Parts: sequence; structure tokens; C-alpha cells
Amino acid sequence: MVLKVIPVGLLSVNCSILVDEEGGNALIVDPGADLEKILRELQPFKPCGIIATHGHIDHIGQVRALKELFDIPFYVHSKDKFLLNNTLWPGFERQIGASLPCPEPDMELKDGMEIVLGEEKLRVIHTPGHTPGSCCLYWEKGKVLIAGDLLFKGSVGRWDLPGGDLEALKGSIKRIFSELGGDTLVVCGHYEETTLEEEKASNPFIRTFLD
Ligand SMILES: [Zn+2]
Ligand SMILES: [Zn+2]
Repeated sequence: MVLKVIPVGLLSVNCSILVDEEGGNALIVDPGADLEKILRELQPFKPCGIIATHGHIDHIGQVRALKELFDIPFYVHSKDKFLLNNTLWPGFERQIGASLPCPEPDMELKDGMEIVLGEEKLRVIHTPGHTPGSCCLYWEKGKVLIAGDLLFKGSVGRWDLPGGDLEALKGSIKRIFSELGGDTLVVCGHYEETTLEEEKASNPFIRTFLD
């Protein structure tokens, strides 16, 4: 499996494309904006599914267009369905390049669920806090965590938006750090990637949460 991370839109959301080179299929995670760029990066592979780490519109802004083009299933956790067409601020969707309405999910992400791509698997870890249905995707073989907006290099996801919950966020962070190795590469929802050990050593939020 090959992972490509493409920053999209005004908010630099990291859209991940996971490719099974042998089978020629690709999973798209968090296609928030920049449809043309995503389509270019997909070449020559055939998309087989769309996963949203959570329901914020900067992460789901091109789900509708991709579904219309390829007729593939869209996965999100049921607890984030209420966010899929919540613009948060008037006009926000236009600013960030989202094209709403977002369709209803075809499949609901659940904790412990495994999503198969070719010979490999992604494990769904439900990590509420930033939103109630936030999920991480763990690619065990590659030791990569696609973390959505759970944590960032030097920071964590905000918990003051609808459905956000600081206690839940702390619990999710504790779980990730106790279940996964320090050398896990973290693809964050925005900006640079990091590792769990790097954040444990230098991220003030993580240090407080894990205390
Ligand atoms: Zn978010
Ligand atoms: Zn985000």
C-alpha cells in the first residue's frame, strides 16, 4: 500500500490517498477541497471508497463530487452525521472550497472496524472529542495513523465547536498513546506530520493530558 498526502483548500486539509498498487484501487480520506488536484493525484488508480475522519465541512467538501463521478461508498461515523451540512459560519463553505450538500453516508464507521484495501487493512479507532464521531485510521503495517483533527504537531483539535468535548478529547488522546507505538507516524488533519513520541516529548497539550 502506498500513502500520498495532499494538502487541499484554504485550510490546508490533508487529503490522504491510499493506493493498492497491485489491485489498482484507491481509498480517499478527507477530500475537503481542490477536486482537480485530487483527481490528478488519483491517476491512474480507480477510487473504491471515501472516508471522512469527521464531519466538518473542510474535510468532506468534495464527497458529493467524487460520489457523482465514481459512484463509490462514503464512510463516516454516525455521530457526525449532524455536521455534514453544518456550515459553522455563514459563507464558510465557499471560502474553503466545499461544495455542499454532502450526501448521507453509505456506511458508518465503527470502533474496531477494519477497512480492507488489497492485502492490507486500516483499523478504525473512534476518538471523540473534536467532534462526537471523530475517528482515526490506523494502518498497522505502515505504522501510520491518519488522525483527522484529534492532534496536530504542537497542538490538539479544538473542542469548542458543536459536539466538541474536552474530557472526551483527553480520553481519546490517552487511548491513542497507550495503544500505539511511539514511532507511529501521524498524518494530522492539517499541516505537518509528526510522530507520537515527538508529540509526547514536545506538545504541551499532550504532556498535560497524559499526566
Ligand atoms: Zn475538524
Ligand atoms: Zn479540520
